[in-house]
Amino acid sequence: MRQQHRFDGQSLWQQLREWAHELGFSQIGVAGVDLSTAEPGLVAWLDAGFHGSMAYMAAHGLKRARPAALVPGTVSVITARLDYLPREAAPDWVERETRRLADPQQAVVSLYARGRDYHKVLRSRLQRLAERLAAEVGPFGHRVFTDSAPVLEVELAARSGIGWRGKHTLALQREGGSMFFLGELFVDLELPASEPAPAHCGSCTACITACPTQAIVAPYRLDARRCISYLTIEHHGAIPVELRPLVGNRIYGCDDCQTVCPWNKYAQRSTLADFDVREGFAGATLLALWHWDEPEFMRRTEGSAIRRIGWQRWRRNLAVALGNALAAGAGAEVVRALREARDTADPLVAEHIAWALAQAQ
Ligand code: SF4
Ligand code: SF4
Repeated sequence: MRQQHRFDGQSLWQQLREWAHELGFSQIGVAGVDLSTAEPGLVAWLDAGFHGSMAYMAAHGLKRARPAALVPGTVSVITARLDYLPREAAPDWVERETRRLADPQQAVVSLYARGRDYHKVLRSRLQRLAERLAAEVGPFGHRVFTDSAPVLEVELAARSGIGWRGKHTLALQREGGSMFFLGELFVDLELPASEPAPAHCGSCTACITACPTQAIVAPYRLDARRCISYLTIEHHGAIPVELRPLVGNRIYGCDDCQTVCPWNKYAQRSTLADFDVREGFAGATLLALWHWDEPEFMRRTEGSAIRRIGWQRWRRNLAVALGNALAAGAGAEVVRALREARDTADPLVAEHIAWALAQAQ
């Protein structure tokens, strides 16, 4: 990319915000490209091995903290927030989520993954935002990122006023809690940077205390290798045996550090139907999902982020949750279902099934 334009003041910025709102974004901001003060923290996190098997995190090295190295010509980063709490979420959604976790036979999918694949939703809307801007100022160089490993998303969000970095390491906003996606447009336009978001965690440590696996090893420091989101989604191999009981009935992701956060009483519902809950991803039993065969899994997860983990990891996660259900007193039906699947399962899933059966009381 090469720098071609200067941003001509507040009126265009106001216009950009209006377009963003029309596209479903609740907030946009602008960050510069000098993230050098974030580099030591990134290096220390990688050196500690906290990224686990996410080799792509390390592969991009310090490019992650250097937008202009990642996408040459980048002068500014437009950041955007897209709320994902489903439109139909009840006023007492936090209590409902807590009750789900307390029912060992219910399958719990992280709230953000119950609707359409957010990568697609975000990407297409950021692209449309870029097109509308191009129609106004002329063609410019840009690249869209959504939940993308090479980008220090939370750092950019904090610098551009979208939200501060909470002690759980996610972005957090006074008017919106943390139930939102982040997306970025790297642009070769020189835009005025937004005011950074001041932090408001104060003395609270609720997320650190609530984390089932103690993955938040210190404020603002996450050992991804212990995080249930990482273990059930990113991690390809066996789930460490000592962590399996702590996974509970979470089969895709984990929201605990967010549901306990006091700021999430301000979480905003999405304005988009894309994040409406799909059948099977809220309120289903573990056994009902276990009885899906692979074609049904593929059909049900079409257009969903869940499909990304594939059939094997899906079954692995369900086996762990079923083992935890057995430990909590689930009966013969679960044992029978696990046994029936054992002989035809691939080695990874078979090992998790064997572990699950060993949990029966
Ligand atoms: S997502 Fe769950 S496991 Fe990961 S840090 Fe938050 S509470 Fe802990
Ligand atoms: S739970 Fe408390 S410490 Fe954690 S992110 Fe929310 S406000 Fe910050």
